[in-house]
Amino acid sequence: MLINNIRKIAVKYLPIFADFRQRPVLVVGGGDVAARKIQLLMRAGAQIRVSAQGLCPMLTNIYHAGGLSWIGESFEPAMLDDVFLVIAATGNKKLNSIVAKCAEQRHLLINVVDTKQHCSCIFPAIIDRTPIVVAISTGGMAPVLARVLREKLESMLPNFLGPMAAMAGTWRGRVKQHIRSMAGRRRFWEKVLNGRFANLISRGRLEQAEQELELSLSANPENVGEVALVGAGPGDSGLLTLRGLQLLQQADVVLYDYLVSQEILDMVRREADQICVGKRAGSQSISMSQQEINLLIVTLAQQSKKVVRLKGGDPLIFGRGGEEMQAVAALGIPFQVVPGITAASGATAYAGIPLTHREYAQSLTLITGHMQDGAADLDWQALARVSQTLAIYMGVFNAAEISSKLIYHGRSAQTPVAVISRGTQSDQCVHIGTLAELESLAQGALTPALLVIGEVVSLHHEINWFGQQNLTSYKRTSSVVEMKD
Ligand code: SAH
Repeated sequence: MLINNIRKIAVKYLPIFADFRQRPVLVVGGGDVAARKIQLLMRAGAQIRVSAQGLCPMLTNIYHAGGLSWIGESFEPAMLDDVFLVIAATGNKKLNSIVAKCAEQRHLLINVVDTKQHCSCIFPAIIDRTPIVVAISTGGMAPVLARVLREKLESMLPNFLGPMAAMAGTWRGRVKQHIRSMAGRRRFWEKVLNGRFANLISRGRLEQAEQELELSLSANPENVGEVALVGAGPGDSGLLTLRGLQLLQQADVVLYDYLVSQEILDMVRREADQICVGKRAGSQSISMSQQEINLLIVTLAQQSKKVVRLKGGDPLIFGRGGEEMQAVAALGIPFQVVPGITAASGATAYAGIPLTHREYAQSLTLITGHMQDGAADLDWQALARVSQTLAIYMGVFNAAEISSKLIYHGRSAQTPVAVISRGTQSDQCVHIGTLAELESLAQGALTPALLVIGEVVSLHHEINWFGQQNLTSYKRTSSVVEMKD
């Protein structure tokens, strides 16, 4: 019985894509709800006829611009002559059901807004990547679920799908002439749509993308891999970019290091190999040298793989991403870089500390506190000036030296400072104090941790939000990250 019911539900709405160009559609109702449907239909090229007592401002504009015909104030069955589809969108339920009945008698498709039982057709949620259109319907059972699904798909389907499909469409004929077998054509398109062609389109380089198609078709070129250097952000998976997510889902192999949270690694394509190439400094685990990492990246790319090099924060900020891409570029391997939210930006935002503020700081300096990375040579005198914010990466172990050097060069010992541990993650921890106290604040701080020095830190007490408010829609799961510093 239950199975029979489910079967019935499953066939209730058959998805078809209808061509509305130049076809008349009657809309009964002239309010905002009608306007939303009308806009959708106009985008599809339909001829709109409206029966309504009055028109809302948006429809009035469309009417004056000649975008619709206002055929009468009250509905008459004769208005149904010659129309392709009928929409009843008035606030009057009785009128809506009369319109529905008349339409049914004439075997016309009818949609009654918000009244499922009178509908012979419904409007699905749409993801528009013209010419690709994805339609979702829950058969009117759970419209909110359709919306949630739509949001998920929106973020998964890149915007460049549209131009990609359009260009593929214009090349279909030529490819068919060139490659006789259907299987051969399928292989060709699979390779092209996942390869450099797609990569070029995603960067808006349509001309080069077309050249790439030409090349792929004529020369059967050597099958080179490619590399994407992707920033994972500071930990909260919601801070990964859409482009980053797309690349993680296309990767053959992902090389990541200790800062990348498990939440982000969970988003990597299941079939991809995941290789951890960087453990925390001083840990027992084997950590590859930078040269070994560079070599591994290029070797995998030369094996025709799509390599994603995934790094915490932004890959080009204290991340050695620049060195890795130099190695890739030197061998002519195609690559792209996807920036990420750097720790200074993410951790302070989640700690309620604006990096600049008109009254407190006019400049921001990102600094490495790792003495071997050049922190010893910093211009401490310049850094000690007021009205600037210092964000110090890898500074926990040298907090004492940093604080004494800044005070020695004239920065007030009372300057507010923050040590933000595991910023943006569910176990984020913020310690606030003064520059004189920096060493003790940093001592025992969980890592990774960022030191923030400057007057802006005093705003933390006013705008600290993360973990303070009951934001139920933001579900966070805890994640474990190996630590450095
Ligand atoms: N490329 C990274 C930085 C790598 S250097 C980025 O753009 O963020 C590593 C240092 O970054 C750590 O020692 C720490 O100071 C800082 N860091 C990284 N993630 C952090 C986080 N979630 N919270 C606080 N500091 C972080």
